[in-house]
Amino acid sequence: MALLEIITGADNPILLKVSDSVSKINKKVLKLIRDMKETLLKEGGLGLAAPQVGQNTRVILVAIQKSEKVGKDYVVVPMINPEILNFSDETCTGEEGCLSLPGEYLNIVRSNKITVRFLDEKGNEKMLVLEGLNARIVQHEVDHLEGILITHRA
Ligand SMILES: [Zn+2]
Repeated sequence: MALLEIITGADNPILLKVSDSVSKINKKVLKLIRDMKETLLKEGGLGLAAPQVGQNTRVILVAIQKSEKVGKDYVVVPMINPEILNFSDETCTGEEGCLSLPGEYLNIVRSNKITVRFLDEKGNEKMLVLEGLNARIVQHEVDHLEGILITHRA
């Protein structure tokens, strides 16, 4: 495994690009996921998208929180080609940070509840219904795949 360098800066072209879908889950993709996981755990973030480590490919990691207390009990879920199928009309505002924008914390409006479909590392299609912070993290990370940063949403 290897720690990856996190790309920073609101004007970095890699962060502003629309990422390409993963066509085949090969060794390179699996290594990227392993390295991203190590990097996310070291940085202590709640999520990480491949463009943040310099890869314009549709892979995100989400630290799904299992309890109300953030960072206490969670599982890191890799999502390949994630697609949000449903956004609740109900929204909430919450403060978000981003590993690519150090020191920047902005209030962002997000849907309370989403349904996300993605491929796992074995290529199986999965679907998750997420609420609250978990829904917020997925929306934030999927935005990265579209080249959208919190500075665009605030
Ligand atoms: Zn971010």
